[in-house]
Amino acid sequence: MSPESPLAAQGTADAAAQRDRNALLAELRTFEGRPSGLATEARDEVNQAMIRHWVDAMGDDNPVYVDEAAARANGFPGVIAPPTMLQAWIMRGYRSQPGGSWQGPRTESGEISAQEQLFAVLNAAGFTSVVATNCDQEYIRDIVLGDRLTVTSVIESVSPEKHTGLGDGHFVTTRLEYTDQHGELVATMRFRILRFRPRAARPEADTPPRPRPAITQDIAFFFEGARQGTLLIQRCAQCGQLRHPPRPACASCGSFEWDTVTSSGRGTVYSYVVVHHPQVGGFDYPLPIAVVELEEGTRLVADLIGVEPADVRIGMPVVAEMVAVDGDLTLPMFRPADSTLVGAL
Ligand SMILES: [Zn+2]
Repeated sequence: MSPESPLAAQGTADAAAQRDRNALLAELRTFEGRPSGLATEARDEVNQAMIRHWVDAMGDDNPVYVDEAAARANGFPGVIAPPTMLQAWIMRGYRSQPGGSWQGPRTESGEISAQEQLFAVLNAAGFTSVVATNCDQEYIRDIVLGDRLTVTSVIESVSPEKHTGLGDGHFVTTRLEYTDQHGELVATMRFRILRFRPRAARPEADTPPRPRPAITQDIAFFFEGARQGTLLIQRCAQCGQLRHPPRPACASCGSFEWDTVTSSGRGTVYSYVVVHHPQVGGFDYPLPIAVVELEEGTRLVADLIGVEPADVRIGMPVVAEMVAVDGDLTLPMFRPADSTLVGAL
């Protein structure tokens, strides 16, 4: 093979890319062990009012969070905070972050924090998107009324470049330590994010296919029926109960024996949403999706077609139409049964 051959050139490019990755990883690794930023002290002591709001929002009626006597009866020194409130004692609103931005605290001398520097390096290398992937908390002692927490955080590790479903990227793990007013460690948290390179957007003409339903043995008949132009409903062969979505056994009598009936395709909009975001490839937006109640009594989720999203109404009569979405997927969709609405489009 001559050095000028395309394969040799590709090999040289790959080697260069690998050198770049190695150099980047070496730079990223210099951040490991550095504090992410300044220590942050809670603005308020652990207090009953915030706990009440939390347990109300969570629907948690454990009395040890609100009742002194119940807490003592259960062996606690007094009312305790729900352990999962840990971050609530420290976190601030988006606009009230120290430094006045998402970028987090500056160092004492006003320099940008190690976390910000790390993210700047990742951004410059094209890893501009972020998703949180893991959060593990360890509770060392119960947090009680009157505690005043402080959190410090350290960049624990930065992974080599990984291939993920979202794109290629680096996992960044931060370890946070929560201490009380005496400096005693009360909890830790490991928080992991993936900083990744977003995949290039597909060109307009290259429309992605609609996502495939996961077709199992239990539901294959439904999609096969749709392909043949019929809307099938599963029926218990023992007691005659109709059911949807399809499943192996009858919820009424437990029988595994079943057959199907062909729906008339007539029904009404039982409920609906109009999806604007997130926009997934293969669909047109805004996308009206309904729970349709068939006249046989079962309900199914399906696209609404032939109607402006603003014209959809609960109770609206609709009729099924089998739509060949692409070469190998046909789905039941519903359009208004009222011909004046249909005619409008
Ligand atoms: Zn049955």
